[in-house]
Amino acid sequence: MSDESRLKVKLGLDVFKPLKEPHIKIRPGMEKDGRLRPALRICPAGLYTERSDGGISLSIDGCLECGTCRVGCGSDVLDWNYPDGDAGVQYRFG
Ligand code: SF4
Repeated sequence: MSDESRLKVKLGLDVFKPLKEPHIKIRPGMEKDGRLRPALRICPAGLYTERSDGGISLSIDGCLECGTCRVGCGSDVLDWNYPDGDAGVQYRFG
């Protein structure tokens, strides 16, 4: 099994409680900002995707709340908050 496959199996053990509102948002107008591009590579859950127009989209379902995108991209392009206590990721087996 490849490293990527093993990661997906482990991520599949986690439980995600639905969010009322996305807790991370790309700031309006920043979808094509170069500071957002690292998110395509560094998000361990692969939640950032490049659109056909060159902008970047974020689908928050499956977010691990690790903060990697917050550190890698910065608060000028991301509005990053933890979700409310009754929502978001619940880790299993460590
Ligand atoms: S907090 Fe982590 S898992 Fe969530 S979007 Fe950012 S990099 Fe991806």
